[in-house]
Amino acid sequence: MPKASVRMAYAYDRLRAYPPEVAGRIATAIGNALGMRGEEAVLLELGVGTGRIALPLIARGYRYLALDKDPAMLEVFRQKVAGVMRKVRLIEADARAIPLPDESVHGVIVVHLWHLLPDWPKALAEALRVLKPGGVLLEGWDEMEAEEERLIQERWRSLVEAEGVGVVRGLHRKRLEEVEEALKRLGLRPKTKQVVQWREERTLRQALEALEERLYSFTQLVPEEVHERIMPGLWAWAQGEFGDLDRSFTLERSFTLRATRMA
Ligand code: SAM
Repeated sequence: MPKASVRMAYAYDRLRAYPPEVAGRIATAIGNALGMRGEEAVLLELGVGTGRIALPLIARGYRYLALDKDPAMLEVFRQKVAGVMRKVRLIEADARAIPLPDESVHGVIVVHLWHLLPDWPKALAEALRVLKPGGVLLEGWDEMEAEEERLIQERWRSLVEAEGVGVVRGLHRKRLEEVEEALKRLGLRPKTKQVVQWREERTLRQALEALEERLYSFTQLVPEEVHERIMPGLWAWAQGEFGDLDRSFTLERSFTLRATRMA
C-alpha cells in the first residue's frame, strides 16, 4: 500500500472527524429516515472512508457493508471496528460495480462520494439496484465555513494558478443537484434536512495540513510536482500573515441529510 495513501487516510480521519455528540445526532437522523432499528436493517455505505458515519450506526446494532475502493481507507476503518467486526463486512470494490445482489439492503449511505465520480450515474444506478423495495438512499454532506480557511484557500488557489494550473471549485454542490434531478426524473421524492450545526476550534496549522494532505477534492487534480512546489510558499505566507500557526479559529460546521425512499 503506498505510504502517501495511508498518511492521507489518517489525516482524513483526524481532520474530518465529528465530535461524538454530532456523530450520534447524524446516526439518529439516519435511523429515523430509514425507519428501522439496528437489528432489523442491513446498511451499505459507498465510499465508507475511515468510518466516521459508519461507527455510530454499527454501535446501534445495524449490520454494515462497508465498501471502499481504497485499501488504505479500509485498513484504518478495519482497525476501528476490530471489536465489533461480526456486524461488519468490508468490501474493497468500486461503487460503480457493487458486488451484491439486486434488492439486498435496506439503506445505502453515500457521503462525499458523488463529486469524485465523473460517471456518477453508474454508481447511482448501482445504489438503486441493490436497495430493497421501500429501502432508502441516504446521502449526506458537510459544510464548513471560516474566514481564516477562506483566506488560506484563496492564497493556495492563487499560487496554483500562478503555476498555470486551473482550479475547479463548487463541483460537490453541483453534483448533489445533478443527483437530485436524476432521482426526481425517476419519479422519486428526495427529502433534504439539515441535521446538526456546530462550532469547532481549528488551528491555522490544521487548515494548512488539510491542504498539504490534499483532503479537499478541489486540491486533488493539481499535479504532484506543482503541489510540492507551492506548499512551502503557502506555509511561509501563512507564517508571515498570521504569525502563530498554532492560534485557533472557529469553524462553523453543519451536516445535511437527503433521504429518498424507493417505491
Ligand atoms: N464517506 C466517508 C466520509 O464522509 O467520511 C469518506 C468520504 S471520502 C471524501 C471519499 C471516499 O470514497 C474515499 O474513502 C475514497 O477512497 C472512496 N472512493 C472514491 N472513489 C470510489 C469509488 N469509485 N468506489 C468506491 N469508493 C470510492
